[in-house]
Amino acid sequence: MISCEFFPPRTEAGVEKLLATQQALDVTVKPAYYSVTFGAGGTTRDRTLEVVKLLLANGDNIVPHISCIGSSKQQISDLLQQYISLGVDRLVTLRGDIPEDGDNTGELSYASELVSFIRETTGNHFKIEVAAYPEYHPESVTPQSDFEHFKQKVDSGADGAITQYFYNIDAYKRFIDNCLAENISIPITPGIMPITNYESLARFSDACGAEIPRWIRKQLEAYADDKDSLHAFGLDVTTNLCNQLLELGAPGLHFYTLNQTDATTAIWKNLTV
Ligand code: FAD
Repeated sequence: MISCEFFPPRTEAGVEKLLATQQALDVTVKPAYYSVTFGAGGTTRDRTLEVVKLLLANGDNIVPHISCIGSSKQQISDLLQQYISLGVDRLVTLRGDIPEDGDNTGELSYASELVSFIRETTGNHFKIEVAAYPEYHPESVTPQSDFEHFKQKVDSGADGAITQYFYNIDAYKRFIDNCLAENISIPITPGIMPITNYESLARFSDACGAEIPRWIRKQLEAYADDKDSLHAFGLDVTTNLCNQLLELGAPGLHFYTLNQTDATTAIWKNLTV
C-alpha cells in the first residue's frame, strides 16, 4: 500500500499548489490515502482540519495526523468528532514535538496515552497508525526503552505504524526482527524521504535523529552546485531503498512528499517490485 504525506501550507498559493499536487499524484501514484501533518497550537491545528476538508473534496481517503502536545482532552475529543462527521476513519497518532520553550500544556504526555484515549472515546471507529523509529527517537534514553514505548502504543490499540525515514535498511530489518520477537504483528510501513536538497535534508535529519550515511552525505555534498546530478543520485538511492524494502516484505511505502509531485512520482515509476 502506498500513502503520501502532506503538510498544511501557510499561504493561499501553497494551498493551490497542494491541490494540484494531489491531482497529479491521483493520476500517477494513486495512493491508498494522503495524510496531513498536525502542528501543536491553535492556528496550525485548525489548518490541518481545513486542509483535510479541501483534500476530501477530491474523493480521496484523507488521514489527519493528530498529536496530544498542547491539547486538552476536550480539544482532542472535539477534533475527533469533527473527523468522524467528515467521514475520516484513519488517523496518524502522535505525541508531537515538545515546543522549544518546553511548554507542554497538554493533558496527555505520550502517544500511547493518546491512542488509549482515542480507543476509550471512539472505540474502533478509527484505524490508528503510530510512529516507529528504526534509528531510535532522538529523546529516547536507551534503544530498549524506546522499543518498549513503541510496544506500549501497539498494546494501547495501534493498528499499524509508519517509520521515521531512514537510508540504512539494516535499521528497519532489525526493528522488524525486534517486533517479531515480541509478537508484534501490525504492519510497519517504511517512511520514505525523497532526496532533492542536501541542506534541508541534513538540517531535518539532525533534528529528527535520522542518519544520512557517510557515503550518501559525501556524494550529496559533492553535488552541491549540480542539482541535476544530485537529483539523479538521490533518485537512485531512494529507488534502490524502496525496491529492497518491498523485496524484504515491507507492507507498503509512505512518502514524505513535502507537498511536491516530481520526486515521489519518479521513485514510484522506478519501483520494480
Ligand atoms: P511517543 O511515542 O510518545 O515517544 C516520544 C518519546 O517519549 C520517545 O523518546 C519515547 O521513547 C518516549 N516515551 C514514550 N512513552 C514513554 C513513557 N511512558 N515514559 C517515558 N518515555 C516515554 N510531529 C508533529 O508535530 N506533527 C505531525 O504531524 C507529525 N507526524 C509524524 C509522522 C510520522 C510518521 C513520524 C515518524 C513522526 C511524526 N511527527 C510529527 C514527529 C513526532 O511528533 C515526534 O517525533 C515526537 O517527538 C514524538 O512523537 P511520538 O508519537 O513518536 O511520541
